[in-house]
This record gives sequence, C-alpha cells and structure tokens, in this order.
Amino acid sequence: MQIKESSKEYDAVIVGSGAGGGMAAKVLAEAGLSIAIIEAGPYFDPADKDMKTQLRGTWESPRRGAGTLRSFGDFHAGLSGWEIPGEPYEALGDTEFAWWRTRMLGGRTNHWGRISLRFGPDDFHRKDLDGLGENWPISYDDIAPYYDKVDKLIGVFGTNENLPNDPDSFFLPPPKPRLHELYATEAGKKVGIPIIPGRLSMVTKKINKDRGVCFYCNQCARSCAVYADFSAGSCLIFPAMKSRGQVDLFTNCMAREVITDDTGKATAVSYISKDDRQEYEIKGKVIVLAASAVETARLLMNSSAPGQTNGLGNGSGTLGRYLHDSTGCGTSAFIPALMDREMYNEDGVGGMHIYAPWWGKGKKLDFPRGYHLEIYGGMGMPSYGFGGNLTKIQEMLGHKVGGYGNPMLKEVKAMYGATVGIAARGESVALYDNYCTTHPSKVDQWGIPTMQFHYKWTDNERKQAKHAQESIREILTAMGGELFEPEVPSYENDHGLLAPGAIIHEVGTTRMMDDPKQGVCDRNSRLHEVPNVYVADAGVFTSQADKNPTWTIMALAWRAADHIISERKKLNI
Ligand SMILES: Cc1cc2nc3c(=O)[nH]c(=O)nc-3n(C[C@H](O)[C@H](O)[C@H](O)COP(=O)(O)OP(=O)(O)OC[C@H]3O[C@@H](n4cnc5c(N)ncnc54)[C@H](O)[C@@H]3O)c2cc1C
Ligand code: SF4
Repeated sequence: MQIKESSKEYDAVIVGSGAGGGMAAKVLAEAGLSIAIIEAGPYFDPADKDMKTQLRGTWESPRRGAGTLRSFGDFHAGLSGWEIPGEPYEALGDTEFAWWRTRMLGGRTNHWGRISLRFGPDDFHRKDLDGLGENWPISYDDIAPYYDKVDKLIGVFGTNENLPNDPDSFFLPPPKPRLHELYATEAGKKVGIPIIPGRLSMVTKKINKDRGVCFYCNQCARSCAVYADFSAGSCLIFPAMKSRGQVDLFTNCMAREVITDDTGKATAVSYISKDDRQEYEIKGKVIVLAASAVETARLLMNSSAPGQTNGLGNGSGTLGRYLHDSTGCGTSAFIPALMDREMYNEDGVGGMHIYAPWWGKGKKLDFPRGYHLEIYGGMGMPSYGFGGNLTKIQEMLGHKVGGYGNPMLKEVKAMYGATVGIAARGESVALYDNYCTTHPSKVDQWGIPTMQFHYKWTDNERKQAKHAQESIREILTAMGGELFEPEVPSYENDHGLLAPGAIIHEVGTTRMMDDPKQGVCDRNSRLHEVPNVYVADAGVFTSQADKNPTWTIMALAWRAADHIISERKKLNI
C-alpha cells in the first residue's frame, strides 16, 4: 500500500479527541503550538440542529419510544458502543472482557455519567497501605494543582466535606436532592453510611461566556446543546480551535502506527482514512497518544523502533499488562412510600444528585480497597420501552398480576418513580495477568490487528462485591424497600460482579513507574524509551481508585501537556 505523507510537520500530533486528547489539545493550543488531532470517528457538535437529540421525545426516535437494542437508547449520544462492525475483539480462554468504544469527536465524554471525582492522597500509595499492587511514582500533591485547574476550567458541583480521601474542591452549587434521594440520605444515616451531595460536571452557575447553565432536563447522555455538561468536544476541542495555536482536525481517521526514525525518535503517525481507505502520515515533533487505554496500547503494540520489536516503548514487557477496570455491582428495590405521588417534573441533571463516598477506611474488612455508591431513581421523563418491572411489583404488593387498558395504566402511573437502584463502583487490584494484546493474525476492516483480552476477577474483588451488595441492601431496606433480588448473588456468580470492562473505566495498560523495567511511562506520562511520545489517557494509571477515572485522566493530561511545553522551551524535544 502506498502511504501518503504530508510535508507539514506539526508541533504535536494528538491521537484521540476524548477526555485526555481534548485536554492536551486545549493546553498545547493555548500555548501557541500547531496541532493535528487524529480522531477515528466523525465530527460531532451537540448544538448542531442536525445532530442534537436533547429535548426530543422518545416517541420521535426510530422505534417511536419502543425498547431498543442500541445500548442506552436511540437518542444516546454515543455513536458506537460495545460492538463496532468490522472491528471485533475477543476474550481469551475462559476469561471475560467488555470493551466500550465511542468513535466520534469528544469520544466517550459525549455521554459519560459525568461523575467527576478526584483521587485522594491514599489512592496514590495503596501498596504502602495494603501491600498489594504498586504505588504511583507521583503523590496527590503532584496532581492536586491540576485537579484545581480542571475544576475551575470545566466546573463540577459538590460540597466541601473535609473527608480525608475524597478531597474538597472548587465546587459549584449542587442541585437539590430529589425525593428518593432524601429517602436514601435518611436511610444512609440509619445504617451508618454517610450520603452526601454528588460531584458531577454539569455547570449549575455561569462560569464563562461560551457555556450555558444547566436547566435540569436530565438528558446529559444525549450531550448538552448549551454546553452545560462537560464534553471534550464542546468544552476543550472547540475552545482549542479558537485559541492562538493552530488546530487541524482529522476526523474519520483511524491511527495505525507511530512512525520512528533510525534513532528511535517518533516522527509521525500513520492513519487510515475511513473515507477513501488509503493510508496517510502526519508528521509531528511530539506525539500524544490519547485514544483510550486499550487503543493506545494497541497503537504502541503495532509500532516499533530500532531495537524495539516487541511494541514501541515496551522494554519493560508491561505494555497492555495491569489492565484493570472498576468493580461494579448493584441492585434495586420498590419503595412503597414513594408510590401514588402527584405527577410533577422531577428532572434534574442527567445523573445522581447524591452519592456515598467510601466510608470503610480504618474498618476491619476482609478485602482490600473500597468502593462508592451511586443512587438512581426518581420521576424523570420516561425512557424507552415498557420498563418498571410491573408484574414483579404487582406480585410484591399482592395485586392481581398482569392487566390491560385504563386500570393497568393507572397502576403503572401509581408505581412510577418508586423504584430506586444503587450501584457500587470499586477499586480492583492491578495484576500482571490481566492484560490486552494484539491478535497474532486477525486484523480489522482497516487492516489493523484486533485486540484480545485476558482478565479474571480474584477473591479480592468478589469479597468487595459481597460487602457492597450487603450495604446496598441495608440502605434499600432502611428506605422501606421491597428488594427485587433479596439474596446476594452467590460466590459462584462472583457476588454479582459485572464482567471486567463493563464499568468502562479501563486503565493501566501503559502504567507510569519510575523504574523503566516496571512500566511503560515515566512520572510525566512520557514513554521511558521514546522521549517525544506521551500518553494522555488512563493507560498511565498505576492503580485505579474507588473513584471514576476521568477527572484524573484530565488532570494528568494537563500535567503532561505542561511537561511538553517545558521540554520544548528547553529544546529537549
Ligand atoms: C456510559 C458511560 C458512562 C461513564 N461514566 C463515567 C463517569 O461518570 N465518570 C467517569 O469518570 N468516567 C465515566 N466513564 C468513562 C469515561 O467516559 C472515560 O474514562 C473517558 O472518556 C476516557 O477518556 P479518554 O480520552 O481516555 O478516551 P475516550 O473518551 O474514549 O476518547 C478516545 C478517543 O480516541 C478515539 N480513537 C480511538 N482509537 C483511535 C485510533 N486508532 N485513531 C484515532 N482515534 C482513535 C476515539 O474515537 C475517541 O474519540 C463513562 C463511560 C461511559 C461509556
Ligand atoms: S441536565 Fe443540564 S447539563 Fe444535562 S443536558 Fe440537560 S441542561 Fe444540559
């Protein structure tokens, strides 16, 4: 195949336009650098009337509101999902992995849950605390100034609570709790689980002239047309394009390889254009990989340099290793006290207004690390399909099961908004044996080797899930709830743990370690072996916390971009 090279050399080529790539683009462009962003998906702007799905009734969707096979529904902003036609992946042996990919400008930030939690001081040195895994080479103090900057730039609501491992911040005012959330908070008090206002990145107060303020339509998963929720396109890439740097967007372009010269320095990125299926090259003085943890590992595995035939920057042999996702499990209950309410608009932000940060520090537990609880429910606009577990609720209430016509409609209305779900998201321990790697022979429709996953939970995660399931049941029961699934799932069923990958917090494939024999990246997110290649996604995480990862991805991407700027000033790259 003939590769088409462009003569222009950019100061930086960034692969991926999600949380990490968007942040790197914004910081580098504002410093005046010329930047090429290579993005595998199409252009997307939620404010564009042809792309906007916010505020459209479910009945306007292709199946007119009926249940849909598309994950999260027809109007969801994610243009791809668990499966992408022509781009398969597989789990090895009896292991499992679910891989969510969103191919579009802004990546998964167009429809993420926007739970925006900082890691705490303990989260950077877990090995010191429980002897498992590894400590990060950096501490909370190294990243805290970047969390502060991210908070101020993007906006996150919440409350300062003086919790030791869930740091306070520059919070915008949180939205008021809804009725089910008031019930859950009270129940939390009864069972000794403190529940506090949520911490999410929807703007509840004007922060700049480019972004509107949330008007509580509850549809952030469709991406906000007034840019009141954080999406990398609207909040980072578009401002980068208006800044003093020069930003060129290459959408629908699937990066394939980092190209290096005889000295091992990276010089360009090659990509396949999805429009003409031809291969091109874009030259850059610095390459920033932010295609998401697994895609970045894949790119490096498909690249090489003199003496580096096992993937680029993989002298440690850890590329793709230590892949880990948050643990996830949960259940729900019907709360009779919430039945028979007047119908009123109970919309809020598209996510929870409250949550329970991990409360188990210092307690005697039979598992390492912790988890937090996310609480869902309320009387928002109905979603797709005929949900609500009607027959089960009828059974629980001793009503006649089934029905039709007006009596059934009345019953459905009476039950509406009375189901509450609680989900746990926890920290798993990063293991060498949990990994992703490229298939030895299979390629996708672009000719790029596909990915294989090898991932198993251990008893650490199973025991954590059991504890979470019991805590969730305690809260729901204290709310007066009738549990849909009263028994905690058995050990054989992993106590209800979802498959690895299913929480979509995959991290750790190019982890940062000071010792080049133990990790792919150094403490500045730069490849140990290729000084002009940086990683700006969750690949660099040495360990996940009991927090969702995106705020940390962005803080680290900003830190890496600052390092690039300072190295350029010193003429090192
Ligand atoms: C439904 C859902 C809910 C979530 N909720 C939360 C939450 O509440 N809190 C939280 O912290 N996290 C949440 N997450 C996770 C969060 O979305 C990710 O952590 C975050 O988006 C990762 O940022 P990233 O930049 O690494 O990757 P992405 O946002 O996935 O961006 C990567 C970009 O790279 C592009 N790309 C991939 N491969 C290539 C290639 N070869 N060439 C060119 N471009 C490429 C992709 O198209 C994409 O645009 C959620 C995710 C999902 C799907
Ligand atoms: S809930 Fe608020 S931030 Fe979310 S889409 Fe609606 S208006 Fe925008």
